[in-house]
Amino acid sequence: MNNLKKTLPDGSQSKRSFFWLGLLLLLFLFYFGSYLQPHVPEISYSAFRKQLTEGNVSSVTVQEDKLSGSLKKPMELGSGENKIGIKEFRTILPSFGDPKLLSLLEKNKVTINTKSEERSWFTTLIIGLLPWILIIGFFVWSSKRLQQRMGGLGKGGPFSFGKSKAKLYQRTSSDVTFNDVAGLRNAKKELSEIVDYLKDPSKFRNLGGELPRGILMIGPPGTGKTLMSRAVAGEANVPFYSISGSEFIEMFVGVGASRVRDLFEKAKKDAPTIIFIDELDSIGRVRGTGLGGGHDEREQTLNQILAEMDGFSEHESVVVIAATNRPDVLDPALIRPGRFDRRVVLDRPHKRARKEILEIHTRKTPLAEDVDLEVVAATTVGFSGADIKNLVNEAALLAGRKDKDKVEAEDFELALDKIRLGIEREDYISHEDKEIIAYHEAGHTLMAELLPKADPLKKVSIIPRGRALGATEQLPEEDRYNLSRSYLLDRIAVMLGGRSAEKLVFDDLTSGAGDDLKQATQLARRMVCQWGMSEKLGPVTFRQGETHPFLGREIAQPKDFSEETARIIDEEVRRIVQEMEEKAEKTIHANRQKLDVLAQALVEHETLEKEEVDQLLNSSTGDADERAAAN
Ligand code: ADP
Ligand code: MG
Ligand code: ZN
Repeated sequence: MNNLKKTLPDGSQSKRSFFWLGLLLLLFLFYFGSYLQPHVPEISYSAFRKQLTEGNVSSVTVQEDKLSGSLKKPMELGSGENKIGIKEFRTILPSFGDPKLLSLLEKNKVTINTKSEERSWFTTLIIGLLPWILIIGFFVWSSKRLQQRMGGLGKGGPFSFGKSKAKLYQRTSSDVTFNDVAGLRNAKKELSEIVDYLKDPSKFRNLGGELPRGILMIGPPGTGKTLMSRAVAGEANVPFYSISGSEFIEMFVGVGASRVRDLFEKAKKDAPTIIFIDELDSIGRVRGTGLGGGHDEREQTLNQILAEMDGFSEHESVVVIAATNRPDVLDPALIRPGRFDRRVVLDRPHKRARKEILEIHTRKTPLAEDVDLEVVAATTVGFSGADIKNLVNEAALLAGRKDKDKVEAEDFELALDKIRLGIEREDYISHEDKEIIAYHEAGHTLMAELLPKADPLKKVSIIPRGRALGATEQLPEEDRYNLSRSYLLDRIAVMLGGRSAEKLVFDDLTSGAGDDLKQATQLARRMVCQWGMSEKLGPVTFRQGETHPFLGREIAQPKDFSEETARIIDEEVRRIVQEMEEKAEKTIHANRQKLDVLAQALVEHETLEKEEVDQLLNSSTGDADERAAAN
C-alpha cells in the first residue's frame, strides 16, 4: 500500500513530462512547418525568368510572395561534381513586383494555380492557444512541485529545491542519558518506567498493562525538557523522532497535517520509538480562540495529532513526548486519558541541582582553585539549567579573553553580573545625575539592610548597565518556595526605597523610579488578587487577565468580579503601596546619615559589596539611631 503510494506520483510525473514535451514539439511544427519542406530546391528569380522565356515552365503555384512550379525538362543546377538536374523549383517573387510576369506566363501557356495563406481554424486555434497552455501548465506544475516539497512527498527533479533542506523532522539516536541530566529526580523516576517499557514492550503487554501513549513535559524554558526527552530515548536506546511545533506551522495549507501523518507513519514502522513534539502549545492551543482568524492550519494539525494518537493499536510501542511551558493554554482534548495524560513537571533547579548542573557543564572546563561551585550555585537562585550552561560559557569566554588557562572565581562573578544586569555602558553621566543615582541606590540598599524580612544585600552599583542606571542586588539565602505576606511587604518597601531617598534628599522625583513603581504595584496587585492577602477583600482570588491576549482563552472570558470589587482592588493595591512608601520614607528619614555615607561612598567607588556596605553602616555615628528612637 505504502509502496504503491510512493511510486505512483513518480510514474505519472514522467508521463506528464512526455506530454508537455510533445506539446512543445507540436508548437514548433506549426510555427516553423513551412521551413521544414526543403526537398524542393530554390532557384533565383532570374533563373526562373530564363526558364520561362525559354518556354520550359509547365505550371506555377503562387502563394503570396512564394512561387513554386515544375519544368518540362530538367534544368541543371550547380556545377562540376555537385551538378544536379531538377524538375521542381521554388523561388521568391521580387517585392517591387514584375508587371510583365502574367503576360509572359500566358504567352507560354503555363498553368497558373494560386493558394491562399489562410490556415484552417484548427491550426489557428492551436497556434493561438498552445503558448498559453504551456505557460499555465508550467505554473501549475511548478506550484504543485513546491507544495509537494513542503508536504514531504516531493522527489528530486529539475525544479525541486532539494528535499534535504526542508527539515521535516529528525530521526536520531540519542547518546544522552540520565547521567547528563542533573537534578530532576522525580521526573527521572517517572520516566524510567517509560524507559523500561520501551526497552521491552512485550513484557508489559504480556501482563496486560495499559501502555503509556503521551507524556507531557511541563516546565519553564531552559529547564531541560528537550534534554530529558533525549535522555529517555538514550536510556531506552530507541530512535528519537523530533519535530518542533512551530515548524508545523508554515506557509502552505494542509502541510502541518500531512507532516504529522508522515511523522507518525515513519515512527510506527520504526517502533519502539519516541516521537518528540517540542513547543506543543504552538499547535495544541485551545481550538477556536485567539484574536482574529487564520487558525485553520493549526487546528488541522492538532486534529491530526489527536487522530494519530487515537489510531495507535495495541502492538505499536510508540511513545509521544511533548514539551510545553504553557500547559494552561493547551486544548483539553489533548490532555484527556489516552493522549497526553501523563504529566512530568520540570522545575527550576534548586541549589543542590544547580551545583550538579554546574558540575556537568564544567566537565570539560579547567577550573582554578578558587572556584567553589557550591558558592556559584548559591548565587544563581532562579537560574534554569540553560542559564547555568550560559553562565559557564560566559565565564570561560571572559577567562579566554584574558588569556587565562583556567576559569577563576572572578570570571564567574563578572559573567553573573553581565547576565543578571546586562553589559556595562560607557555613558557619560553628569556629577549631578550621578549623585541622584547614588542616593536612589543607597535608598534601596538601606532598606534592604534594615528591613528584617528583606532578601539580603549582595552588592550595589551605580555603573549603568543594560537599561538600568544603577542596581541594588539582593540574593535570597535559600530558594524560596513560599512567599509570606511580611516578606512581600518588605520587598515592596525596598523597591520604593530608591524613590523615597530621592524625595527626601532632593525634594524632587525623577523618572528613574518608574520601573520600581511598576514592579511594586504589580506585586501589590498579585498580593491582593492572587494570594488573598488583603483583609478587606478576604481569601478570594480575582482573575486579572494575566494571560497574554495572543496566548489563549483569557481574552474571551469576562471579568469575574463587579465594578465595585474592581474599585476596592484598586484601593487596596494603592493602600499597600502607599503604606510601604510611608514605611520607606520613615526608615530613610530616621537613618539619613547612613544614607549620606552610603551615597558618598557610591559616588566615589561606584560599586560596593555587601561587606563594604556593612562596614560603612556600622562605623557611621549612632545619632541616626537616636533620632529613630525619638520617632
Ligand atoms: P527546554 O527544552 O526545557 O527549553 P533544554 O532541554 O533545551 O530546555 O535545555 C537547554 C540546555 O540547558 C540543555 O541543552 C542543557 O545543556 C542545559 N540543561 C537544562 N537543564 C539541565 C539539567 N537538568 N541538567 C543538565 N543540563 C541542563
Ligand atoms: Mg526545548
Ligand atoms: Zn530603583
